[in-house]
Amino acid sequence: MTFRWPGTGAASARSGSRSCQWAVRPGVASSRPVASRGVSNPLAAVTDGVLSLAEDSPCPRIVSREEWGAREPLVPHENLTISPVPYVVVHHGGMQEYCFDEEACAAIVRSYQDLHMDTNGWDDIGYNFLVGEDGNAYEGRGWDARGAHAPGYNQQSIGICVMGDFSDRLPNDAALETLQNMMACGVSLGKVSDSYLVLGHRQVKATLCPGDQLYAWVTQLPNWTDDPQPCVDEECPDPPVGSRLRTNPHSSLLSRR
Ligand SMILES: [Zn+2]
Repeated sequence: MTFRWPGTGAASARSGSRSCQWAVRPGVASSRPVASRGVSNPLAAVTDGVLSLAEDSPCPRIVSREEWGAREPLVPHENLTISPVPYVVVHHGGMQEYCFDEEACAAIVRSYQDLHMDTNGWDDIGYNFLVGEDGNAYEGRGWDARGAHAPGYNQQSIGICVMGDFSDRLPNDAALETLQNMMACGVSLGKVSDSYLVLGHRQVKATLCPGDQLYAWVTQLPNWTDDPQPCVDEECPDPPVGSRLRTNPHSSLLSRR
């Protein structure tokens, strides 16, 4: 099975920033070591001391924050206000730094986190997850935390960023497969609605993200929507069937009152 889509000139908005990152800083500036590799799949189970994956799990390997050498968030994450989330928002990094093995991908994830925290002034890396062309997913804020990646959708979506700039080429098959598997994984874990909708970042903000090539591919996904419904002033549209409002007292939906 191939995940490539033969682009035929899908519409693209040549306006706004190329980057998802809101600010551009060249280079990948980090030399912190990568933690030793280990299985961190959320469906992993320990049986007789042996870590094994659930046989029918669609989840790819998810490199944990500890494994990629994350900094601690400046403040504890807020929970998503709707779960399972009705949306998945696809991003690219918007910088021409690519990675094909875990060490290099971990360095890029760290650079994105540094950018988001030190330059943008955010509390942590903005995405819920990232995907590398090594075929791994990388844990950002994870399944339960509200991200900082798409206005109007942070509280009702999982944001997944493919590392690199995909204006002029598609991510490789390994990354595209993992991106799709992460959506299926979220459904299997009950974190993403089984009637979820997919959108590209440029649909909700003036940005070129996730790049012309990756965006064209996103629009061919069966769950892509051309009519996403944002939350406005923290008021979100009725979640699709299958989702429900959280009753978590720490959710911003409740604490703002
Ligand atoms: Zn983006």
